Amino acid sequence: MTRKPLPRKPASSRRAEPKPVKKPVVKKATTKNTAAKKSRARIKPIESASVEEVFRRFHKIEPEPKGELEHVNAYTLLVAVVLSAQATDAGVNKATRALFKRVDTPKKMIALGEEKLRDYIKTIGLFRTKAKNVIALSEVLIHDYKGEVPDDRDALQKLPGVGRKTANVVLNMAFGHPTMAVDTHVFRVSNRIPLALGKTPEQVEAGLEKIIPAAFGMHAHHWLILHGRYLCRARKPECWRCPIADFCRFEPKSQPNE
Ligand code: SF4
Repeated sequence: MTRKPLPRKPASSRRAEPKPVKKPVVKKATTKNTAAKKSRARIKPIESASVEEVFRRFHKIEPEPKGELEHVNAYTLLVAVVLSAQATDAGVNKATRALFKRVDTPKKMIALGEEKLRDYIKTIGLFRTKAKNVIALSEVLIHDYKGEVPDDRDALQKLPGVGRKTANVVLNMAFGHPTMAVDTHVFRVSNRIPLALGKTPEQVEAGLEKIIPAAFGMHAHHWLILHGRYLCRARKPECWRCPIADFCRFEPKSQPNE
């Protein structure tokens, strides 16, 4: 028996049929990133015995780490650190090499004047504001401290352009105090390993001061800066050649061929 073909729906009726609704695509990467962030947030700082070993290894590799900002005395160190805000040490050194040959005291800086100072440092970011601050802090040093840089945190932080980090660097390098200057490198390295966790430089500074053994306090900030600048870089840390990788809890560790 032959079956009759079913009658076709008119074209207008076919067009009226609703199209299936596509489900929204959930981006897996977002989920993954959120999970990674959450798991990182749960990571605890390494134990104190491990902290000691981390610094023992830094010490073995470089017993006397040095800051890379060129200077000839406490005053030029202070000026160099003020100029280094949001700039690289190499960029600051390029500009100050000629400046510090001519100017190495607050008195000479005032004699040079703001306009000529600007010429020396014009390759450094924010040079106009920085020139103003250097002239202003030189005036304060002459009037209040007989032209000397004070060995005192409060006094330093009252100088124009000087914040907590700058004061810490000067107290450490010029006066030998075991201070912890937290710059972008120290902040990143400390949170990655983690040594001390914190959302602000002040929190990380306080955390590091609590856990770093006194024997390493003097050089700790230089070891961490140099480690962050040359090895534990922001975009691609070189974990495969890191001397403290066995203590570090940062994951995933990078490979040379990535
Ligand atoms: S293992 Fe990697 S992330 Fe950890 S401190 Fe070393 S370079 Fe940094």
